[in-house]
Amino acid sequence: MTEFPEHVYVHVPLCVSKCGYCDFCSVVTSERLADTVVAALTVQASTLAPAGSCAHASTLYFGGGTPSVLGARLPRLVTAMRTVFGVAGEGAEVTVEANPDSMVPALAAALVPAGVTRVSLGVQSFDDSVLRVLGRPHDAGSAERAAGGVMATGALDLSIDLMCGVPGQDMRSWEESLVRAIDTGAAHVSVYPLTVEPGTPMDAQVLSGVLPAPDPDLAAEMMLTAERMLGAAGIVRYEVANFAVPGHESRHNSAYWTGRPYLAVGPAAHGMVAADDARLVGVSATAPAGAARLRYAYASDVQAWLDAPLAPPAEIEWLTADEAAREDAMLGLRLSAGIDPALASRAGVVGVLESLVGDGLLERADDRWRVTQRGWLLGNQVFGRVWAGE
Ligand code: SF4
Repeated sequence: MTEFPEHVYVHVPLCVSKCGYCDFCSVVTSERLADTVVAALTVQASTLAPAGSCAHASTLYFGGGTPSVLGARLPRLVTAMRTVFGVAGEGAEVTVEANPDSMVPALAAALVPAGVTRVSLGVQSFDDSVLRVLGRPHDAGSAERAAGGVMATGALDLSIDLMCGVPGQDMRSWEESLVRAIDTGAAHVSVYPLTVEPGTPMDAQVLSGVLPAPDPDLAAEMMLTAERMLGAAGIVRYEVANFAVPGHESRHNSAYWTGRPYLAVGPAAHGMVAADDARLVGVSATAPAGAARLRYAYASDVQAWLDAPLAPPAEIEWLTADEAAREDAMLGLRLSAGIDPALASRAGVVGVLESLVGDGLLERADDRWRVTQRGWLLGNQVFGRVWAGE
């Protein structure tokens, strides 16, 4: 592969405060830190894609962290990255993640001329008591105002993130959040069951009995409810955790699930390129014999990355062609479209898929292998067995 990846992920490692369940790479922001991060991201990107070497990136995704805490710096950063990676003209998808407290209407309006096309808003819940358990820095009212500001531009696609299985969240609260998410006019909704990550403040609360542990059965019921209610509103499941009005699926995230190479910028950012293109991302090591794909990630310590934003990736993993095909099969099964028989054969997983059909977790229909309703609920088992090839 000699083609430059068409997809770029930029990690903004700053938040207004740390949520109780969060183990993502982010630190509490300040004016000075925000300036430093923007400068370092721009330097790293400019080194990865010297002007003119990439004239066709089709998706750009600013994740975090909370990109919207950059305020007026964010449209400037987006413009700089679009120039560096050649994201131009109609048809490119440029997404920024945002939180309700910092996605004020003036920022939403300023993102449009900078070329942003989507805003992914981290609402998590429209129930203030659930937001307090999560330690979120906003309330339901600010989430509705932020969503309204995005929709009022008339030019931005809105995606809303919701979280289910939160301690203290009951089905009534969950249904109310789904209704209010639908009412914003969002064309895309992501739904994640809460996982309590070791070492987080929420983990300590659960271990000490201050909070009950999340109930996986209730979370599973909530996922079913989400599928039913969102589907009734025309927002249909296209991936394990993602729902969209047809035509409004995330093209950037779809690239992850369909084996397309993508570049990473920023601390803890992960990327994937063909093994032959390792030099594009500063990996000078010779690929081992048989390597077809390189997965890599930059330093996850924000200060370490800021000290050396041009350092090569801190983590690399080479995959053989067989492993890459198996990975493509595993990721492809996350999609409601499933995978085709050719990929299943190339990945050498036909036997595994047949046994998953026997367990009621997959089906084979219309010449595709697809996850069943039961398979959605037991997704980790499906994906783990496909990856393990057994
Ligand atoms: S806003 Fe997101 S990234 Fe920031 S602390 Fe909360 S969960 Fe973590």
